Amino acid sequence: MKISQPLIHEIAERTWFVDELGTNAMYILEGSERSLVIDAGTGYCNFKAIIESITDKPYDVAITHAHPDHVGMMHEFDQIFINRLELDGETIPTEDRKKYSDLVKDGQVGEMFARCVGPIKAEGYFFKIARQHVGYWDVWEPKDEYICKGDKDTELIFIDEGYVFDLGDRKVSTVFLPGHTKGHLIFIDDMTRIAFTGDAVNHNNGSRFHAASTHIRYLLHFLEGYGKTYDRIFNGHTSYGGTFSSFSEPIAVVYNLVEAYRALLRGEAHTEVRPVHIDPSRTVELVVYGTDAPNSRLSKNPMVTPNVPPRLWEDGEEHIIP
Ligand SMILES: [Zn+2]
Repeated sequence: MKISQPLIHEIAERTWFVDELGTNAMYILEGSERSLVIDAGTGYCNFKAIIESITDKPYDVAITHAHPDHVGMMHEFDQIFINRLELDGETIPTEDRKKYSDLVKDGQVGEMFARCVGPIKAEGYFFKIARQHVGYWDVWEPKDEYICKGDKDTELIFIDEGYVFDLGDRKVSTVFLPGHTKGHLIFIDDMTRIAFTGDAVNHNNGSRFHAASTHIRYLLHFLEGYGKTYDRIFNGHTSYGGTFSSFSEPIAVVYNLVEAYRALLRGEAHTEVRPVHIDPSRTVELVVYGTDAPNSRLSKNPMVTPNVPPRLWEDGEEHIIP
């Protein structure tokens, strides 16, 4: 008997972690006036129904980044909050909010974003990637009757660093930490002092959109600018794949990431060829920093994608090896 419905864990007072069949970690935070949902999963469940079984408060849905395992059920909701850079279309919207259909009409939705929120049963990219991503068929079994991506013409509300979700007796602040994607956001809750870091601070950090030196600056901004506001980190893949865990990520992962990028800048980065975590039939050379088993598919080592070395420095950045 395999598991075909998300597992729900209470990780702090009025704070829940929804484990969507080993793919995505979504979070529900309930305040005295409103609730906040962080990320919208892949589509292997009816997430809206799950949220509304947990909280009866009005709620907002905030998205860390627009990958298929984080924004997949966007169309279940009237509105989502997201950084505008995540759309990746031909132009960047200048409005504060816009309906999905209007963004498509104006060429502001890139191919990747459209695939991420597209129909789950359609053959092609999403079907292929998402089915691989869940992995561990001996543990999980997505069932067609639970699959749900919604059909609303969702309004996207664009937010950036400094935006605060006021839930009444708790406030959740937004931090910009691009790299894994162009407009990746982190959310820090002042009541539980948890930073919800999506894929910006975990074992799958990447830095595809700026140089290693700039990425260090963003990581230090999160560490030094906000470090006094959080004690724990929950990322977008707590309990990933076939593992069962509801523990937070050690804060050390941020320091390890900084060191991984510093090693790149010094020309001392250690690289290994490893299976791609969403498709173990393929391998990729990764920068690895850490000490756990090198062939572990679910390694918690920070891994930095290999297209970083050619872009060690941004134009005009001081060439000081940190
Ligand atoms: Zn992810």
